[in-house]
Amino acid sequence: MEKPAIAGGKPVRDTKIFYGHQYIDDADVKAVTEILKEDAITCGPRIEALEKKLCALTGAKYAVVCSNGTAALHIAALAAGVGAEDEVITTPITFAASANCALYCGARPVFADICSDTYNIDPARVQACMTHKTKAVVAVDYTGQAAQLDVLLEMCHKRGIILIEDAAHALGTNYKGRAVGSISDMTTFSFHPVKTVTGGEGGAVLTNREDLYKKLLLYRTHGITKDPQFFEKVSHGPWYHEQIDLGYNYRITDIQCALILSQLDKLEQFSARRKAIVKRYDEAFLEMPELFVQQEIPESDTTRHLYILRIRPECLRIDRKGFFEAMAAENICCNVNYIPVYWHPYYERLGYKKGLCPNAERLYEEMMSLPLYYSMTDADVESVIMAVRKIVNYYKS
Ligand SMILES: *Cc1c(COP(=O)(O)O)cnc(C)c1O
Repeated sequence: MEKPAIAGGKPVRDTKIFYGHQYIDDADVKAVTEILKEDAITCGPRIEALEKKLCALTGAKYAVVCSNGTAALHIAALAAGVGAEDEVITTPITFAASANCALYCGARPVFADICSDTYNIDPARVQACMTHKTKAVVAVDYTGQAAQLDVLLEMCHKRGIILIEDAAHALGTNYKGRAVGSISDMTTFSFHPVKTVTGGEGGAVLTNREDLYKKLLLYRTHGITKDPQFFEKVSHGPWYHEQIDLGYNYRITDIQCALILSQLDKLEQFSARRKAIVKRYDEAFLEMPELFVQQEIPESDTTRHLYILRIRPECLRIDRKGFFEAMAAENICCNVNYIPVYWHPYYERLGYKKGLCPNAERLYEEMMSLPLYYSMTDADVESVIMAVRKIVNYYKS
């Protein structure tokens, strides 16, 4: 039997492969360098161009682009009216920002457990967490697979609760034939370099509701408006503007928007490649009973941002940490997305306790994210599979 590198064998590859990486081509470079010579490098025409493009891509009525995905979640929570004494329900298996947006507004995040097979927030648990204090639900399309949006929307709207969809992983995903971005009350995206499309940094909130759109614009820019219809006082002249609420500087530059616009031209290509890699991983791992493959719901046509390798510890003589280290020794650098949010010391200090969401905690102990990005070659993909197979065969009990 072939020995894994960690047990003294030869690694499957000589060079390291990382779990995510951006893809920038000459068209992207040209788009960015062109903008540098123009008059406006922030607050210029690329802002609106990107907002229009996001609407065209998703079918959403309005888009507000901003500095990053975290800022997008913050202004979405503010627009939803989240404030002190309120509760916001979200999943523990997400990046901390999905819950932090509630804290920014003085509200309390409430964690609803995930489904143990799809890894997305369980609507039955969401229902059980709803109280008269619930102002919003932040549903994450974890790994890129859409949450059960129809069920969640109905549940929220019955009680006057706003559904914010954190779709940082899910650009390019369709749910029941509709693009993610056009479905929930508000949908947020991130353009961080590990995400499907990047601007270096960047974010967006999409909505079909004009009232929410107007609030998002205000919170993006200090709570200041130049639109006379919102003025509370008499205008002093053409320069006049008013701060009518407390907002932030969450603007994005035209430089970043130019890059995102250029990247979006490749979205279909990015999406197709990610789907092909996922298909190959699934085929290979479904044959190994020592592994559990993430369940897909038929409603979601998924552009996957993350590929989760989940081990069945009862079938192996090593745990997740051992498996992760064995992969690293093969020169395959994995990641773990995510530590349950309420396990972080900051959340512990707020009173959250281990044991709150058993499905999420179990998933955390058994999973790692495998390399998944557009520019991976077929040989890269096969080397990841070979490494997994070698480790599984060597350590199976
Ligand atoms: C990346 C990410 C964010 C935050 O986006 P930034 O652009 O990094 O601020 C929020 N939620 C999820 C689920 C993410 O993956």
